[in-house]
Amino acid sequence: MTIKENLELLRKSLPDHVKLIAVSKTQPAEVIREAYDAGQRVFGENKAQELQQKQPLLPKDIEWHFIGHLQRNKVKYIAPFVSLIHSVDSLKLLREINKEALKNNRTIDCLLQFHIATEETKFGLDLEEAIGLLSSEEYRQFNNVRICGVMGMATFTDDRELIRTEFTRLREFYDTLKSRFFKEDDSFREISAGMSGDYQIAIECGSTMVRIGTGIFGERNYH
Ligand SMILES: *Cc1c(COP(=O)(O)O)cnc(C)c1O
Repeated sequence: MTIKENLELLRKSLPDHVKLIAVSKTQPAEVIREAYDAGQRVFGENKAQELQQKQPLLPKDIEWHFIGHLQRNKVKYIAPFVSLIHSVDSLKLLREINKEALKNNRTIDCLLQFHIATEETKFGLDLEEAIGLLSSEEYRQFNNVRICGVMGMATFTDDRELIRTEFTRLREFYDTLKSRFFKEDDSFREISAGMSGDYQIAIECGSTMVRIGTGIFGERNYH
């Protein structure tokens, strides 16, 4: 199947309220261009310097999302143009994003990443940490970031029920934060959940953004 065919099939299977992020990490600009020519405008990358290098090679109407673990010293590479950072997992990182957004005279939209998987290796906040962040005096002074929702990655497993439990937990975290901190704030409305192997379950659990790489581009080649 071609990239175009994969995209067409996916679009048919996604409900209208779910946004498709084409995860283009490791893919060269020509391959991303192929997806662009098939109508895709939203792409996700997980390495700041890789994204910084690709962005100038591709059309300016692309919405670039950052979906990987972000080190503070790399925020500057993507701050001028990034549309949404899915992976905010500390107040310190948010402070840095706010600072770089201010330098670029813009506001950067962000999601809070939650640790929902049983695997230790994955990054993210727990509910208590997220509440601490949002309740902090410092967070209230950040005028150049906007928290638009939550993100999470389920355990990499064939156990569909475990995946469902984890995405349901993410949805509950979203609901808790919505009612406690963002009741009147319409921009807090996103749940970024679901990859090629588990996006249908994620959508059943309330996902509004799915991040799909191999399901569009095929297996990744890391060399
Ligand atoms: C790579 C990646 C994806 C996409 O994974 P696929 O299994 O290729 O769809 C989604 N989210 C994050 C955070 C990723 O790093």
